[in-house]
Amino acid sequence: MTTATAPARDTPGGAVTSPFEGALFIDMDNYRARYECLRRVCPHRIEGPVCANDRVADAEGRPVRRGPEAVAAFIASAKADHLAKYHSGSTR
Ligand SMILES: [Zn+2]
Repeated sequence: MTTATAPARDTPGGAVTSPFEGALFIDMDNYRARYECLRRVCPHRIEGPVCANDRVADAEGRPVRRGPEAVAAFIASAKADHLAKYHSGSTR
């Protein structure tokens, strides 16, 4: 039994415009996240993923765990940032 709750990943070209223009994927309670843009014309389809265990440089350049706060921040801003960067003027 399959019930479609998300758009098909490989919709043939020329299909009716999807009602979804982007999808945010969050795994394991904010542990890892990525934003996938579903617009048919998009120069940068995937934002992320970012993972709480990623190593990033701190202010002194030392590698530190990114942490769940950074993943939460990504989740909060990924869509808006993506739209501002690649689809300026759009709000959805
Ligand atoms: Zn896009």
